[in-house]
Amino acid sequence: MAIKLGEIYGIPLFLDYTWFIIFALIVWTVGFLVMPAEYPHQLNFALELTLGILSALLLFGSVLVHELAHSVVAKRNGLQIGRITLYLFGGVSEMTEEPPTPDLELKMAAAGPITSIVIGIILGGLWILSKDSSAGVLVVGPLYYSFLINIIVAAFNLIPAFPLDGGRVLRSLIWRSNGDVLRSTKTASTIGRIFAYLLMFAGIVLFVLYGDIFDGIWLVLIGWFISSGATNELRQQIVQEDLGPLKVRDIMTRQVDSVSPEMTANELSIHFMERKHNGFAVTEGNNLVGCVTMHDLRHATKESWNTLRVRDMMVPREKLVTVEEGDSAKKALQLMSQHQIGRVFVLDSTARLSGIVTRTDIMKTIETRESTRASTFGAGPPGKKGEPSTSTITVDTGMLFEVSSPPGDASGDWVANYDHNGLSLVSTRLIQLADLNQTAKQFTFQALSRGRFSITLSPAVLSKGNAMRVATYSVFVT
Ligand SMILES: [Zn+2]
Repeated sequence: MAIKLGEIYGIPLFLDYTWFIIFALIVWTVGFLVMPAEYPHQLNFALELTLGILSALLLFGSVLVHELAHSVVAKRNGLQIGRITLYLFGGVSEMTEEPPTPDLELKMAAAGPITSIVIGIILGGLWILSKDSSAGVLVVGPLYYSFLINIIVAAFNLIPAFPLDGGRVLRSLIWRSNGDVLRSTKTASTIGRIFAYLLMFAGIVLFVLYGDIFDGIWLVLIGWFISSGATNELRQQIVQEDLGPLKVRDIMTRQVDSVSPEMTANELSIHFMERKHNGFAVTEGNNLVGCVTMHDLRHATKESWNTLRVRDMMVPREKLVTVEEGDSAKKALQLMSQHQIGRVFVLDSTARLSGIVTRTDIMKTIETRESTRASTFGAGPPGKKGEPSTSTITVDTGMLFEVSSPPGDASGDWVANYDHNGLSLVSTRLIQLADLNQTAKQFTFQALSRGRFSITLSPAVLSKGNAMRVATYSVFVT
């Protein structure tokens, strides 16, 4: 739950309700505990309250500037930022798309903490200057506090626990070395979760052994926040990966149940019961003119049902979210999350309604792809760049299976060395990988007899650059 504050740099800014809790907490701890200890006998209630509020606003400003730094770098590099939400522990910039390269991810992730550190240093300098001057407590106190808070915001976010900034930096570095965003996300999110559990454990120890309820609960909350963030980000990455090459036309439902705008509310209610749908497209000919849901019908008084028409209660075409058949499936999902809706309408090239994509369609697609991914043998080219690696493949006797070389440019050919008594090479082909202009050579083998066999893929011409880039497969034929 969040309220919209406005827009900065074209990005909607939201304030989560939990933020009011932290606001009150800061006013109390800083205004009535920290500052009086720092400036004994100089403060009265009004001054303490003012100092508390000023400090809370400064924290707000610091977190906002930190988030804006992420967003500015993202936007300059052509990425869309959905919104910025300030919540209990800081802020989130919600990207509607993930950074396409590890370098950009690194830049974006580092921008926030670097900005916080720079602001912290400037404020710290001002504090040192003002400390011995004639400036009053109202200047010196908040300067000191906001110097501290910026350093703390930077330090907290630099913890290498994905999805904190430090964890994103870590992911970008792993990603850069292995070229595999999904595997890097898995590693980073595992490390993130380990950090999270350690924090929670520390919190429980503080609470149980030392009776430190406040810090204990605080650590458990932060740990919980990091761990759920890490899990979410990984799930998102898997979704992105599964939907990667798919277009809307590949996953949409073509038979769309539609109603005429002239239908009365009465007829519509019967239609709802018969078809067991929550909503219908409203069409004239093949043209989409709106969408009507159970919700719209409930809003109309029962007496008006005889005369009220679908046209009068539908959500009109202009307000509907639509995609085109050729748009990516990812885009459809992004739009649904962004607008918090369960379906988007699909238009063909002549802007006529040709289908609908629902959340269920997308979830089914992901499930299917996940189960095929699990049963595809040696699907992914293994190995970090520059390191030999081994993957194990299990197949039944007689089965065909595929292995491929690590991705690279098309300039070098690859050869396979394998156990001829157990395996037979059926065919080879070059495959174009989804991104980055990379190719790999795919070898199709048949398993001839039971046993354990090995396949080594190596560059046909060994050179200094590729000498170590060898992929080894251990094949277990059952
Ligand atoms: Zn950040």
